[in-house]
Amino acid sequence: MRILIAAFAVATLLPAAAAPRVSQPARPLVPAYDAASLTRACDDGIARARKAIAAMASRRAPGAIFDEWNRLAIAVEDFGGVAYLLGSVSPDKAVRDAAEPCLQKYTALQTEIFQDERLFRRVKAAAPMNPHQAKLQKDLLEEFEDSGAALPPAKRARAKEIFDRLEELRQTFDRNIREDPATVAFTPEEMQGLPESYLKNRKRDEQGRYVLGLDSPSYAPFMQNAKSGTARKRYYVAKMNEGGAQNLAVLGEIFTLRKELAALYGLPTFAHYALRRKMVQTPETVEKFLADVKQAVTSVEARELDVLRVAKASELQMPSSGMRVERWDVAYYEEKVRRERFNVDQESLRKYFPTGKAIDYMMKVSQRLYGVKFNEVNVPIWNADVRYFDVVDASTGRFLSGFYLDLYSREGKYNHAAAFPVRGASRLAHRTPLSALVANLNRDGLTGDELEVLMHEFGHVLHGVLSQADYNPQAGTSVKNDFVEAPSQMFEEWAHRAQALALFKVVCPDCPQLTREDIANQEAARRFGRGIFYARQWLYATFDMSLATDPQPPLAVWKKLEEATPLGFVEGTSFPSAFRHIAENYAAGYYGYMWSRVIALDLLTPFLPNMLDPRVGARYRDTILSQGGQEEEMEMVRRFLGRAPSNEAFFAEITGRR
Ligand SMILES: [Zn+2]
Repeated sequence: MRILIAAFAVATLLPAAAAPRVSQPARPLVPAYDAASLTRACDDGIARARKAIAAMASRRAPGAIFDEWNRLAIAVEDFGGVAYLLGSVSPDKAVRDAAEPCLQKYTALQTEIFQDERLFRRVKAAAPMNPHQAKLQKDLLEEFEDSGAALPPAKRARAKEIFDRLEELRQTFDRNIREDPATVAFTPEEMQGLPESYLKNRKRDEQGRYVLGLDSPSYAPFMQNAKSGTARKRYYVAKMNEGGAQNLAVLGEIFTLRKELAALYGLPTFAHYALRRKMVQTPETVEKFLADVKQAVTSVEARELDVLRVAKASELQMPSSGMRVERWDVAYYEEKVRRERFNVDQESLRKYFPTGKAIDYMMKVSQRLYGVKFNEVNVPIWNADVRYFDVVDASTGRFLSGFYLDLYSREGKYNHAAAFPVRGASRLAHRTPLSALVANLNRDGLTGDELEVLMHEFGHVLHGVLSQADYNPQAGTSVKNDFVEAPSQMFEEWAHRAQALALFKVVCPDCPQLTREDIANQEAARRFGRGIFYARQWLYATFDMSLATDPQPPLAVWKKLEEATPLGFVEGTSFPSAFRHIAENYAAGYYGYMWSRVIALDLLTPFLPNMLDPRVGARYRDTILSQGGQEEEMEMVRRFLGRAPSNEAFFAEITGRR
């Protein structure tokens, strides 16, 4: 859940003709721009795209619109993909800064393209010659429609006003969170339980109290480790007011406008508007899914809360009858139970997964499963830590694509983990993909959670670099956003299961080995808290759907829902004030996190019990990874599974029957 994929959607960008040639294959690379050359490449790219758009718009007949579109998408991707990556990883601040205005122009260009009626008419009039063209046409028309191009003039004008206002509100909502000045001060006694590494270099006030902001790196470890319940409560209440009451008004206006937008399209609710473009298609499907989740999760959550209650009573040396678990207790006692009951201490795992060997493992698994070879090549890089690999088909020796690994933190670098799809494939344009995995790993070794993150992001990279889509706008991860996390979530499982981890011995014969029992304990620890976790996810998704269906004052809706949960609503809190996802493009889409997991675990089933079977891998590469978004996601899944998709594996995971 903590992972994002670099978020640019259908038409992405290209660094084409400028690609330096290193050795035999035509190997596209990320150009070594300085700020001035990045800006120039960006402006040239935009000028070229505008010229292409003008030429496309001047023709009336559909002609070869799909090929023209492909070239345009590639032209746009060529500057945008590079700007997006360098804006996040360049060691040169001037380059990172130069990427920002470039990406703003890039976004504006996208909007312009999909509001151009002349392009819309040509795409609409085209007669597709094959299924991939038909899917491309469908996707493009939907994007035109959603941008307002298909509405009558008065409605189109209103839609444009709504889009502009929504973007303004999104920025305000985000700024109110980002710039929230709130801090909470704690005495040294209140910091008991926090490790030295957390305390060192912390800001102190004149009385020697620690001053903590609302950022996650400060908040999350505190809630897991601080022994003082009253201190955790104070921090919890402060965090649950992040963004402030002003954001409730912003959120309210956002959902009211979304409902009006849906009405312009003749749709009853924003949920209908948003979901018609997703795998689920209708609000009814989501509601049914959420009802099933609720049913599965309720008793598991109650059982887990009971374990926490006993843990709390024992720590406080009080009778467990009548002991109450509070919201600010959950993370703390979960950690405690994981350590004490399952003997799992994440930090101690680093010696089993030395970082270099974990990377070898990730690559070994991928090469074996998908019939490819990764050849490390010396190419120009933006930092000495960065590595580059060619991806070659193992059976034909054909050059397929390339990827970069940029895995260690440094000043000014993107501070999460993500896969950046720098270039997308286009078989018809002989365009090979290029991706980058960006993370901030510990150099000495990984915890189990960090190994999971690494595998997750590499799952996105594989989706990009093994793509063979005909048309660039459908390459790799350009799939519906309730599907895009499925391949990456599936690949996480190779970080956990004993049968896969056996391969670790091959990449590192000298590493200490986890026993089967260790791995089973890990798994049990990881699964403890599943009920609490999914119950919370259910709550977020239900809240999102509620506003997307019937916009009401957000706090009132939230309060009513949270009050009905076992831990209840805490007076004086305002969780929706900082619920970024639904102020942004996850609106009527929060369920997608769980939905992707349903698909991920279903996709995993053919890989069980032999998770290293190259025949299953080849089939998966062929039916899912190589296809990108050129076929309907549901169809691809069905073809790979050889049956209708099922949510059985997901519910087995929640309830622990597996
Ligand atoms: Zn992801």
